[in-house]
Amino acid sequence: MQKLIVAANWKMNLDTEGSRSLAEGLKHQLSDCENLDLIDVVVCPPYVYLPVVAGALGGSEIKLGAQDVYFESNGAFTGEISVQMLKDAGCSHLFLGHSERRHIMGESDELVNKKVKAAVAGGLEVALCIGELLEERDRGQTELVIERQLRAGLAGVEAEQMDHIILGYEPVWAIGTGRTATPDQAQNVHVFIRELLADIFNENRAGNTRIAYGGSVKYNTVADMLAQPDIDGLLVGGESLKIDVFSNIVKESIRYAAYNCTAAGRHNSNLKTNK
Ligand code: PEP
Repeated sequence: MQKLIVAANWKMNLDTEGSRSLAEGLKHQLSDCENLDLIDVVVCPPYVYLPVVAGALGGSEIKLGAQDVYFESNGAFTGEISVQMLKDAGCSHLFLGHSERRHIMGESDELVNKKVKAAVAGGLEVALCIGELLEERDRGQTELVIERQLRAGLAGVEAEQMDHIILGYEPVWAIGTGRTATPDQAQNVHVFIRELLADIFNENRAGNTRIAYGGSVKYNTVADMLAQPDIDGLLVGGESLKIDVFSNIVKESIRYAAYNCTAAGRHNSNLKTNK
């Protein structure tokens, strides 16, 4: 069974006190949670709040992530942050290729690829986000876009490095819009991503790579999404800024993972086990 991941993207929100209290609240809400180790929970605040969130999460199993990085290790790159700096600040994870970076900041597939390679080489776990715009879906170009972003994003990545890469399918039309993809829509794209991974690497690698869904995830959509055989986690934006809501999303994911483990043990079920 793949370990599920639930990652929170705080985007450009909060301040020092807000970040501290959200992180502390989350730590508190999840402190009595059995089986927290069954899933990876990652919180990604803005760069400047990484130290305060790292302090607030100290001693918990919640992991710290960033929302971006630059591919060079140091030097005259005003405004940028390196992989080593993120590690120094306590990060183990990061998002790359988020649609807001691609479509607002104009990041190309090539730039995302350089960042992916630098982050993995530097020892971070990457959530590489890919996803189509609404007009691309309407024109029937979803697979075309996904294939382009995936192949370009993973160019030059070695099969073993995929142990440190999670793919995030985030349809742009579902991000921050309240319009979640249906579980079927998400599952279909996840299957397509897995087929591409089999073509780029091999079947085994494809089966072992986690593919998470993001886009207006809400507490009441968690179970239906995770019930899809090819959805291995959730990337959460807006709802991750609310302590109770995000804690409940995590708890529901843990319930799902625990049930799946038990079912797999009892019946040798192939629920999320033999992809
Ligand atoms: C995101 O931006 O990664 C995201 C999933 O946002 P939201 O949950 O707000 O749609």
